[in-house]
Amino acid sequence: MLTCPKCKGAGENFAVMCGPSGGRTGNVRCSTCKGAGVISEKHAAFIEQGEKMKQDRQSRDLSHREEAKRLGLSAAEYSRLEHGDLEAWARVARELP
Ligand SMILES: [Zn+2]
Repeated sequence: MLTCPKCKGAGENFAVMCGPSGGRTGNVRCSTCKGAGVISEKHAAFIEQGEKMKQDRQSRDLSHREEAKRLGLSAAEYSRLEHGDLEAWARVARELP
């Protein structure tokens, strides 16, 4: 297991949350490691892959929506891939020929 690069092992991140009573700030459970503070090496590889996808996309001057459309993915799903979301990568892997 590796230390989560997003929360640096804390398991939570400081965030601004918007609710019916207005915005508030606080710590939310880290979405990358799900609060564990650590991630698997496989997950780390997906995060790295997502980072490369983002750099590649930006080098072609495309928005994440345009790139998602090009790949036949929803913008939300594509965004999850760029963030190295383990479940999103698992879904994409299943759909590949
Ligand atoms: Zn984390």
